[in-house]
Amino acid sequence: MLEDKLENRAIKPTTMRLLVLKELVESSTAINLKLLEAKFERADRTTLFRTLKTFEEKKLIHSVDDGTGSVKYSLCTDSCACKPQDQHVHFYCEKCEETFCLTQSQIPESQVPVGFNVSSASMVYKGVCANCS
Ligand SMILES: [Zn+2]
Ligand SMILES: [Zn+2]
Repeated sequence: MLEDKLENRAIKPTTMRLLVLKELVESSTAINLKLLEAKFERADRTTLFRTLKTFEEKKLIHSVDDGTGSVKYSLCTDSCACKPQDQHVHFYCEKCEETFCLTQSQIPESQVPVGFNVSSASMVYKGVCANCS
């Protein structure tokens, strides 16, 4: 249930939040604000942006920086705490320009000098996805 997904992350279910969540659940790839705007023509940009920010803060979704300059978002797994060890590799398809979560591929543990603290890590593979090859 969509409501449960929100309540599990202590997010109050509103109509807009449920609609945006539905979009994220149904999408097999990461989505960006522009795509959401196109889907919800009557909603204003600020509301959509705030919805995404709330989801991100509550760790319902994670942002994906695939190097294209536009931040994309994708649903987190139920147990995800968005810690470096929860993060996975993303795959950017150079043909369809979609970005996929490779949840099975963990980012290798970081080796940093004493005194350095890692708060996040990202790794992006680029290439051609299964749909395009
Ligand atoms: Zn592709
Ligand atoms: Zn991801």
